[in-house]
Amino acid sequence: MKPRPASPRAVLRLKRGRDRARWHPWIFKGDVADVSDVEPGTAVTVVDAGGRFVARGHYNPRPALCCRILTWADEALDGRFFERRVAEAVARRAGAAGAPPALGRLVWSEADGLPGLVVDRYGPAVVVQCLTLGMARARRQVEAAIERALGALPVFHKDEDTAARLEGFEPVHGWAGPAGPPTVEVVEDGVRFVVTVGGGHKTGLYLDQRENRRRLSALARGRDVLDGFAYTGGFACHALVGGARRAVLIESGPEALAGARENLALNGVADRAEIVAANVFDELRRLERAGARFGAIVLDPPPFARSRTQLEAAVRGYKELNLRAMHLLDRGGSLLTFSCSHHVSAERFEEVCRDAAADAGVRLRVTMALGQASDHPVVLTIPETRYLKGLLLEAL
Ligand code: SAH
Repeated sequence: MKPRPASPRAVLRLKRGRDRARWHPWIFKGDVADVSDVEPGTAVTVVDAGGRFVARGHYNPRPALCCRILTWADEALDGRFFERRVAEAVARRAGAAGAPPALGRLVWSEADGLPGLVVDRYGPAVVVQCLTLGMARARRQVEAAIERALGALPVFHKDEDTAARLEGFEPVHGWAGPAGPPTVEVVEDGVRFVVTVGGGHKTGLYLDQRENRRRLSALARGRDVLDGFAYTGGFACHALVGGARRAVLIESGPEALAGARENLALNGVADRAEIVAANVFDELRRLERAGARFGAIVLDPPPFARSRTQLEAAVRGYKELNLRAMHLLDRGGSLLTFSCSHHVSAERFEEVCRDAAADAGVRLRVTMALGQASDHPVVLTIPETRYLKGLLLEAL
């Protein structure tokens, strides 16, 4: 088939030499030579300085990141396009029998060729997040594509307020059609969790830590475990179901604490758990003074650096946290430590942990580098897709 010429109407012309757009989906205002009259949040054809077709994406003149590429093929961004992309993303995550997973991320934005769209499945319910004006405008097409891929499941829209403000659309919070169940129970590797659909952080659970929770479970047997920044007790529940002797959860959010209590009870492990409502930094200091020791410690804090300017303060925070935890680690004990700050690279994070170990006077072996679950894939040419960095360290 002969490729169609780029649409003469909505065209974005790149400046000379802005070749990054040939493989990276983000175009910033500074990359643009000129744009024809385009309705914000609709499709634009990206051409190079010589007028040759490069890609097609969603255009929004409001943010500095003004165009996100959805395809490098000359194809229409219509309902069929969304059906194809969602079907591909779901198929990539299908189990051996070809069935879509009952729990997990089904579509992850740039990594699945659908920038600005997150689709997570929680058993009988689906949670959708539109992060760009383009995706918010394509909401109905996205819903249709999900129905086509998964069958008729209730869809809850949980847009993020910050992204919506930046992109200039009204965030939607609520069911797309008739209301689905307010809470669902899901099973992750044999551990049960209650999820309030549309409530809590992210889309309900930190699905990106799934494989690391599995790792903790595998090494927790017989150990005392400390779950720092516990949220609804994901790591602690896995450790206890995996045979940990006892777990201490530290968390400051009241809703998260209630969720943790519920999940521990649901798994029948509450009698071996202690929930501490506190600031992790303070509690680690208190535990150290009390002479506490643990055989496994998890540190899964929120992003300390939300922008580049916060980087140095974030680094100090990570160092302090890890240093405190290292003081509490038994000989032979494991530390699973994470950073989800986009601006802290894996190298920098390792350096911070090295400094902390030197100051703590503890020798640790790097058993393994940790990252986000495989349903949040990393695209080689889009380094921004690697955001969760972690280390599994063993005290020598
Ligand atoms: N490990 C969890 C996810 C952790 S998210 C899981 O697998 O589900 C980070 C959590 O840290 C959030 O629940 C947040 O409420 C909590 N938090 C943030 N700062 C904190 C602090 N200084 N002390 C205690 N908890 C904190």
